[in-house]
Amino acid sequence: MRSANQLLKPVTTKVNNKGNLEIGGCDLIDLAQKYDTPLYVLDEATVRAICKDFREAFKDYPQTKLMYASKALCTQAVSILLESEGFGFDVVSAGEIYTLYKAGIDVKKVTFNGNNKSFEELSLALELGVGRISVDNFFELSLLVEIAKSYKKNVDILLRITPGIQCHTHEYIQTGQTDSKFGFDLTQIDEAVELILESYKNLNLKGLHAHIGSQIFETSIYPDEIEILVKEIARLNEKYSLNLTEINIGGGFGVKYTEDDTPPSVYETAQKIISKLNECIEKYGTEKLILYIEPGRSVISTACVTLYTIGSSKQVPQGRKYVAVDGGMADNPRPSMYRAAYSAEIANKPDEKPVKEVTIAGRFCESGDILIKDISLPETEEGDILCVYNTGAYNYSMASNYNRVQKPSMVLVNNSQSDMIIKRETLDDLISHDEIPDRLKI
Ligand SMILES: *Cc1c(COP(=O)(O)O)cnc(C)c1O
Repeated sequence: MRSANQLLKPVTTKVNNKGNLEIGGCDLIDLAQKYDTPLYVLDEATVRAICKDFREAFKDYPQTKLMYASKALCTQAVSILLESEGFGFDVVSAGEIYTLYKAGIDVKKVTFNGNNKSFEELSLALELGVGRISVDNFFELSLLVEIAKSYKKNVDILLRITPGIQCHTHEYIQTGQTDSKFGFDLTQIDEAVELILESYKNLNLKGLHAHIGSQIFETSIYPDEIEILVKEIARLNEKYSLNLTEINIGGGFGVKYTEDDTPPSVYETAQKIISKLNECIEKYGTEKLILYIEPGRSVISTACVTLYTIGSSKQVPQGRKYVAVDGGMADNPRPSMYRAAYSAEIANKPDEKPVKEVTIAGRFCESGDILIKDISLPETEEGDILCVYNTGAYNYSMASNYNRVQKPSMVLVNNSQSDMIIKRETLDDLISHDEIPDRLKI
């Protein structure tokens, strides 16, 4: 069965009777006029469709817990939407915990990850009662045990391990290989467990956690990871008479940024995960483990597009044509960071035939600020609205104020209605954290 992460565009995308692109029943040109550009447009129907795909895909393993990786896109409205679809959350900072807490979400459904969580962040997590801390290293173990003491709390933890698996994705988004900044090496687990059992008695070890990378297309990676994790869980249970019951396999499911991308369906990946997990449970003789998965990108990427207004353009003699838009690397750093590829259409002329390859340049002062290299588009004119697909994940969440440009707003669209879920920053927002020492004041 197909799942929504395999689509290039939000499920509600179509050309309307005005000849414009519409998403969630909203004309994109109207949205651009009403809210200004750049504008992130998030389609609620697509978010709900992919959430349903995940629920259906894992229903044959009822002990599955779906945890949305907040770092892909974390806002209060998005968090509430995902909670309503049955998701818990994987978080990596006090800011993400606070966002969920303020949105009214029960933070018991949260797992706190990260390779260098601070004293303040761990304290906040304990104070608010975050469900699981995935402990990354020995330093964190000793920090956490002290904080737990001061709060007089027992803390449920997982150990994040590096399973020594390499997947074929960009080096910067691989995390499971042995030489990684994340997690305990397999050879260090026993020492960590012994510390917990002998000295760190207020830490309650529930299971093991790993995450191998992002934008993964190889479904065989997950079975490899599961084999390692279940084997370790069974070994630790046996050796230390433990009752570890939780396996967290992280996220990483891929999406379709361009026609060349062929991410597997969530159903196919889930089948591989479930059958391998059942096989390993049998083979290593553990009880039914609780399976946590932490998809981020695949849950939110496809649901969102970014609208830009086309401004200047430049034809290099005998060379490329550059078409500049009013956003770029500050609202979508992925092309300049990872050479990530994107697809786009002109929202006010979706049916016009492509005439030319152009390169979409951002407005920021870096030559590397190119959003899309060599894309076929109809004749572009100043004022056209460019719709870039698949910008839900790691766009707004990685956005910056480079060049002192305000971060864009985001609207949620559904059934012809649009609601602002992130306000555009103002010029005053940009200077709101500036301080001028008295001796410099004019
Ligand atoms: C980033 C991350 C995820 C989510 O990865 P996606 O590729 O967005 O699905 C899940 N778990 C952990 C621990 C992560 O660091």
